[in-house]
This record gives sequence, structure tokens and C-alpha cells, in this order.
Amino acid sequence: MTHTPPIALTIAGSDSGGGAGIQADLKAFHARGVHGLSVIAAITSQNTRGVTAVHAVPLSHIRSQIDAVFDDFPIAAAKTGMLGNAAITRLVAREMRKRKPAWLVVDPVMIATSGARLLTEDAVAAMVNDLIPLADVLTPNLPEAEALLGRELRTRKDLDQAGEDLLSLGASSVLLKGGHARGGEVVDRFFDAKGVLELRHPRLKIEGHGTGCTLASAIAAELAKGKTPRAAVKAAIGYVQRALQGSYRPGGGPVHVLAH
Ligand code: PLP
Repeated sequence: MTHTPPIALTIAGSDSGGGAGIQADLKAFHARGVHGLSVIAAITSQNTRGVTAVHAVPLSHIRSQIDAVFDDFPIAAAKTGMLGNAAITRLVAREMRKRKPAWLVVDPVMIATSGARLLTEDAVAAMVNDLIPLADVLTPNLPEAEALLGRELRTRKDLDQAGEDLLSLGASSVLLKGGHARGGEVVDRFFDAKGVLELRHPRLKIEGHGTGCTLASAIAAELAKGKTPRAAVKAAIGYVQRALQGSYRPGGGPVHVLAH
């Protein structure tokens, strides 16, 4: 019999355009050498020009997908992405509390680069109170960190304080992604009990679609393979950089899809 790879799960939204969401997650899992499972929480109608509709999957069917995967597979790591609304966020948190995957990466997806809302405003409280306390790695970008903390983040001091405050919500570690800040260099900050680690890389002049989904999935894959959160984050950032360098424009819109 051939070797069975470690198994990782994504609980997220579908992107019909194949660039972000579940589709990006499964590609990242495959590229990083893990078997991917998916629980689809929401379905977007989407292409390279934007999102035209969002359907939240009924709670009973999200729960039955979670039952199906946890009842059969040894899940080494799970990640959450687009959850759509407060009821889904609370359900996923309740199930993760019950199922206790060894690692949980929470990507607090809120608004697409195109501007489409992927999480209702009233769900931010559920994210903060229910799901974030379960996160081994929380991966907000700057606008998401601002929404979670309810304040603007401008200076370096603000960012360091934000990392501390996000840890105090109960996440074991936080990767505060710097891609939305200005400058020729992107500075991501990784916070955990040991302190803060700055991860710098050149800013590529590419509007990548699905970079956040891919990064969080690559982190989950590396955790599933046995890396520590710090090492998983470093490996995943390198992977996304390479995937961005090879990205392409599959449709008529401006966005680039990553080459996994
Ligand atoms: N669609 C889905 C289903 C997503 O999960 C996400 C991001 O997490 C997006 C779209 C937006 O991706 P981006 O902002 O990278 O274009």
C-alpha cells in the first residue's frame, strides 16, 4: 500500500472562479503534500471581476459535513475561512470545541479585495467571542485586525499592541499580515507567547486573489505535517511568495490567481 499523507480540513466558502476559498485551500493542501477535506459553509458566485451572489449553506448541512469528515478521517489540522454569518461562525466554533482538532488555523475572512462582504457585520462578535479563543494560529490582515479590535491601526506601536490584544482574545498565536500597508516591503508580524517575530519580504506588484486563503491553508498543511506554528508560518509565507510569482490571469478581470 502507498503511504497515506497527513490529513487537513478546510471549513470555508466556495469561489466558483477557482482562485480563492475552498478551491485555493484544496490546491494548497495538495501542493504541500497533505490530503484535503472540505466543509463548504457558503457558496459564492464569483469570477475575476467580483462576487455576484452569496448563499449561506443551511446549518444542518454544515453540521452533517463536519460529522462526515470527523467521523471517518484522522484530521491533523483544520482551518476556517469564509463563514458568511454569525450563526455559521457559532456553529463552527461549537463543533471545533467538541471535535478538538490538534491544530486550528482561523483566517477571519470578512471582505474580499473586490469589496464584497464575505461575513456579515454582526458576525464579528461571534468570531471574537466564540472562534478566536480556539485558534492556534489567527491570520488577520490589517483591515480584519481593525474590525476585530474596533480601532484603527496606523503606527508600528499600534501594530505591536494589536498583536498583544489579539493574543489576549485567546488565540495562541497571531500572524498579522502586512500586505495592506504601504511600502516596497511587506512586513508580517508573528506574535506568540515568546514575543514578536518580523517576517519581511519584497512586495510583488501583483493583485493576487486568494492569497489569504492559500496562506492559512499552507500553514494548516505544515502543522498537519508536524511543524511548529512558527516554522509553519515561515514555510507558508515562502510558498505563497512563490505561488504569487507564478500567478496568471485566467479571466477578463484584473485579478491574478496563484500558481500552486
Ligand atoms: N471568495 C472566498 C470564498 C474567499 O474565502 C475569499 C477570501 O478569503 C475571497 C473570495 C476573497 O479573496 P481575495 O480577497 O484574495 O480576492
